[in-house]
Amino acid sequence: MGIKLRRAGIPFTILEKGDRVGGVWRDNTYPGAACDIPSHLYSYSFEPSHDWSRKYGSQPEIQAYLDHCAHKYVLMQHIRFGAAVQRADFDPTAATWTVTLADGNEVCSSFLVAATGQLSLPADPSFPGLDRFEGKVFHSARWDHDYDLRGKRVAVIGTGASAIQFVPQIAPRAAQLHVFQRSAPYVLPKPDRPYTRLVPNLFLLYGPNTNLGHNSIIYMLESQTDYVLEALRHAATHGARWLDVRPEAHREFNEELQGQLRKTVWQAGCDSWYVTEAGKNTNNWPSFTFDYRRQTRFFDPVQYVTDADSQIEPLVAGGTEP
Ligand SMILES: Cc1cc2nc3c(=O)[nH]c(=O)nc-3n(C[C@H](O)[C@H](O)[C@H](O)COP(=O)(O)OP(=O)(O)OC[C@H]3O[C@@H](n4cnc5c(N)ncnc54)[C@H](O)[C@@H]3O)c2cc1C
Repeated sequence: MGIKLRRAGIPFTILEKGDRVGGVWRDNTYPGAACDIPSHLYSYSFEPSHDWSRKYGSQPEIQAYLDHCAHKYVLMQHIRFGAAVQRADFDPTAATWTVTLADGNEVCSSFLVAATGQLSLPADPSFPGLDRFEGKVFHSARWDHDYDLRGKRVAVIGTGASAIQFVPQIAPRAAQLHVFQRSAPYVLPKPDRPYTRLVPNLFLLYGPNTNLGHNSIIYMLESQTDYVLEALRHAATHGARWLDVRPEAHREFNEELQGQLRKTVWQAGCDSWYVTEAGKNTNNWPSFTFDYRRQTRFFDPVQYVTDADSQIEPLVAGGTEP
């Protein structure tokens, strides 16, 4: 919201009760805290982060991304930290909101946007007898990192998304770990994996899956050199210092390619230098050479991420400060 208001040249102040940006990603630091959806989806469309280290970014990475966004988009000077909103009153005559903070200060504005999230206040359950429990009690959203769980008997109440992330992390440390659940959740495997960088600005001539058994490699190489030149031209004309294939484009291309290769003679069960021990053909092009020429005829910038992608649009003239 702040980024959009700034771009629109509308003065604003963000009142934040915490001491830094991040919201739930600032507060939830429990072991194993991470995104439950792929991080490329959990990124602003205007700030695609190309350097997530794994498919499902961890809490520190997401926090770093949000810090980065707040700085890059010049939000910090608009944020008042330690400003917990306690009440807000609208005066219809003056058409003004008066927002009262926990420290008694008041802030006036014409419009008010509530962006307090749905999960910023942990719900501590109240069990009969909890007050008599003499052990340590804390909520996963306020994890006590100073408390050493090694050798302890630990009870985890609940099997929500957070428990599913931290239970496997703490189980090896605890002497015993009991998980209490009222109703069983659905659990699916999480296909997490580290990302390997695709080495930006690197082109491989006669690289993987460009070998042929039926036609001229020269024809393939000429397709590649033209493609590389197109990429270099694109970088030069767009002021990009680097470009890199989007991981999802890389994955889709490979899935399609491997799907075609599965129907070929190289995959019929013989060992050969074309096929890895795992049975993946990393060498050969499965189709016609003119098909390769067609696919490489134009450099498609949509399949790439570059450092010129997320330029901040010029601000609308007029004050943007609160
Ligand atoms: C552990 C965890 C994991 C999650 N994982 C995912 C996921 O994988 N994918 C997904 O899509 N979503 C996930 N979510 C949901 C997550 O809440 C949202 O994705 C996202 O954080 C919502 O952003 P927000 O800015 O609306 O709220 P928040 O991140 O909650 O930010 C609200 C901000 O408002 C501040 N605030 C609250 N009340 C006041 C007040 N009275 N005065 C001043 N400031 C106040 C808070 O301090 C906080 O900084 C997860 C949530 C949690 C808790």
